[in-house]
Order: sequence, then C-alpha cells, then structure tokens
Amino acid sequence: MMTTVVWLRRDLRLIDNPALYHAARRGPVIPLYILDEQEDMGGASCWWLHHSLRALQGQFQSFDCPLILRRGDALSILQELIRDSGADALYWNRLYEPRTIQRDREVKTTLQAEGLEVKTFNSSLLNEPWEVQTGQGGPYKVFTPYWRQAGGQITAKQTLPVRDLGSQDRETASDDLRDWALLPAKPDWSGGLAWRWTPGEKGALDRFDRFLEQRLQLYADKRDFPAVGAISGLSPHLHFGEISVRDIWNRLGHFEDVAGVETSVAKFRSELGWREFSSHLLYHFPEIPEKPFRSQFSVFPWQEDEALLTRWQQGRTGYPFVDAGMRELWQTGFMHNRVRMVVASFLTKNLLIPWQKGAEWFRDTLVDADLASNSASWQWVAGCGADAAPYFRIFNPVTQGQKFDPQGKYIRKWVPELRDLDGDEIHTPWKVAKERTGNYPDPVVDLSVSRERALAAYKSIK
Ligand code: FAD
Repeated sequence: MMTTVVWLRRDLRLIDNPALYHAARRGPVIPLYILDEQEDMGGASCWWLHHSLRALQGQFQSFDCPLILRRGDALSILQELIRDSGADALYWNRLYEPRTIQRDREVKTTLQAEGLEVKTFNSSLLNEPWEVQTGQGGPYKVFTPYWRQAGGQITAKQTLPVRDLGSQDRETASDDLRDWALLPAKPDWSGGLAWRWTPGEKGALDRFDRFLEQRLQLYADKRDFPAVGAISGLSPHLHFGEISVRDIWNRLGHFEDVAGVETSVAKFRSELGWREFSSHLLYHFPEIPEKPFRSQFSVFPWQEDEALLTRWQQGRTGYPFVDAGMRELWQTGFMHNRVRMVVASFLTKNLLIPWQKGAEWFRDTLVDADLASNSASWQWVAGCGADAAPYFRIFNPVTQGQKFDPQGKYIRKWVPELRDLDGDEIHTPWKVAKERTGNYPDPVVDLSVSRERALAAYKSIK
C-alpha cells in the first residue's frame, strides 16, 4: 500500500490543501505536525497555533486519521516516522522564509537520497515568488508594476476537495498538545484573544462568509476607518493557512460584476497583492527582517530609548489614536492597518526608535505576525523599505485620528479614561482640564519638534 506522510506546517486546513489532496490520491495518509522549536514565535502566535492544531485534530479525527504531533529536529522525526510507518512518500506545502527554505532543502535532498518520493506544492500564495519577474528577469522592487504583472498571471484553479484519507493499521505515537505549553499561564492574558478570534478552518471560513455578506460592499470606501467594520480580519487565518488564498480569490470573482462592489473586489485583491509582494521581497531579499532595504539607512541616527519604547508598547504616549491602537493590539492580538501605519510612524519618526524594535513587539503580540508582511511593512513606514513611503510623509497622529476616527469611537473603545470627552477634545486631551482625563498621560513628545528632528536625521543620511 502506498502510504504518504503529509508534513503540515502553515497549511492547517483540509480544503484546497494540495499536499494533502495529492497524498490522499495515492493511498493512506499520515498527517504530521512538527513543532519547530527554532522558530522565534511570539506569544500571541503560540496561542493561535495551539487552538488551530486542536481544531485540526478534531477534523482529522472525523476522518479516522489522527494528526501526529511531534517536536524537535524535523529531519530526524521524519526519518523515524517514515521508517516506523513504512511510508514511501513525503509531501508538504512550501514555505518561503530564509530559514525554512534552507531546512526544507536539506530534508528533501537527504530523504530523496534515501529513496523516498518527496513532493512539494504551493498552498499559500497566488504566484510563487520566482514566477513574477521584471522584463530584465529580476525581482520587482515597486508594488504597482509588480501587481500589474502578478495580478495578470493568476489563473483560475478548481478548489481541491477533501478526500478519503485512508486508514492506518498501526498506532503511531503522538505528543499531547498540552505538553507543548503553547498557552499562556500565570498570568493567562489570552481572554481578549479568545473573545475576538476562532482559530481553525471553520473559524476562517465563517469569517470569510461574514465578510462577503456584510462587509465587502463597504471595503473600498471604509477600510481605513477602524471603528467601522469594513475589513476582513482574515490575516491570522491566512498566516496559518487555515483558508486558501486561491479560494478567496476565486470566490471574490463571483462579485466582480456586481454593481457597487467591483471596486471593493479590486481593492481587496490588491491588498492580497501586498501580501504576495511582501513574500516576493522576503524571498529575493532575505535580509529584510534585519537590515534596511535602502542601504543608506544603515547609518540612520536612531535613538534607542527603553522608557519611551515601553510607553509606546503600553499605549501611554499621550496621543489617543496611537494609544488606542497599542491597547487594541495588547488586548486582542490585532490592530487595524491604518492604525498600524500611524503607530509605526510615531515610533520610528516622532520617537526615532529603530523599526526593528517595533517589528519585534508586533512579532510577539500580533496573532497574524508574519515575517514577510511585518518586515516589509515596518520598512515601508520607516521609509527605508522597497517602494517605501517618502520619508517626509510623517503621519500626524492627531490629524489621522480626526480624519479616520472623526467621532472618536475607536479611541473611546480602547482608551476608556477618555470616554467622556466631547467632540474633537478626544483627539487632544492635553487641552482639557486634568480632572476630566483621569490618569491619562501627557504627550511624550511635541509633534512639531519631533517632526523637525526626524527630518534633520533624514537629511544627515541623504
Ligand atoms: P484586509 O484589509 O481585510 O485585507 C485582506 C488581506 O490582505 C489581509 O488579511 C492580509 O493578508 C492582506 N493584507 C492587507 N493589507 C496588507 C499589507 N499592507 N501588507 C501585506 N498584506 C496585507 N500583516 C500581516 O499579515 N502580518 C504582519 O505581521 C503585519 N505587520 C504589519 C506591520 C505594520 C507596521 C503594518 C503597517 C502593516 C502590517 N501588516 C501585517 C499588514 C496589514 O496591516 C494587515 O495584513 C491587515 O491589517 C490585516 O487585517 P485584515 O485581514 O482585516 O486585512
């Protein structure tokens, strides 16, 4: 009997999972997840992973095909499982981060040399990073031409259904998920995450259905307003591969010709394009998590300041729109994209703290923390990335709040001590008598002084 081990990684779903589908066509499947202890996963991601694996275990159980959990060195675990089970093939879906590419290459070469059939598939991107090339044959560095090319290359593909996964004659040992201690304890800070999210394939599909029914028509006009529910919230589900991006793309196609919705479809697809572009950049420029893309920024006069960094992390900068975002992040593991841009600009430009410090905090606290999107986005805001915003475009957190949260609804939700301020007062609480703002702090920096300082710092490296 031809048995295939399917090594699951960030493809924690059954529907439209190419490795699983093709393995099941051969014969019985042994689904395996290996906890990668080398991966620098943040606390919020660990919480998500636990619940996603728990959900996946239930799904595989219903096929009478238990999900095997192991932790440690991937190659040794795979060799042992293949030997013990008599499997003759190993399938997985590809990852695109520098460390995983290197590891997967070694696993593939070694196991092929040992006579195993090893096949890999694309499950998480619309285009492989190497499939999109400039006319000269290199990678793109600017989004607009990248997306013109990449968007045009996407071909419709059928959703791969879930098949019978076969049955195993023998029992295969598995770790107990609880022993991996992925959940926070003492203190358990995950209440806000559990309130907001349902990790797993069902949670992802339900969220996408709700988005199509209730939010898609608002998306183009309202996606920048954090108090309006116009965004999908799919990013953590996409990161863990609980939903297929190809399926999302295809289902959006049903709304392409619906009057009033076509611009939202195009806008949403181009946001998926930014996700693709980030992976493209990380694949071709693997240093972007650490080093500025534009090399002149390697001598930028950053100012490390632990006390200011802590004020930013805790949402106590004295700027309500920034603080609302940082508190939303801390409590729910998520922050709206518009607010991410504002808090990142505030950290790197008004406080002059290195973007890597901000990226590190996001990596630990975001449920959607993703090496490619996080690194590319932080560099974009800091002005040192590929296709970055011009440096002098420094977001003003007060005017951004007034524009994108005009009634202060978002601020009131996350900064409750300002709840009773009226009208525009909510954006400038330092102008209001102290007894009305409780213990809300004064601004940590003056906006115009810090803006001038940032521009002077930029001038010094130009
Ligand atoms: P929607 O607006 O519903 O968009 C749909 C999908 O498109 C998202 O789920 C996401 O996969 C993708 N997407 C949307 N905007 C972007 C973008 N600008 N860049 C890349 N992909 C995008 N996104 C992450 O997934 N992980 C990160 O670690 C991450 N870090 C970020 C750090 C900073 C400083 C900034 C400014 C942005 C970051 N983003 C990151 C991008 C973006 O903020 C989130 O993808 C988005 O807020 C997720 O919300 P959503 O799913 O409701 O998005």
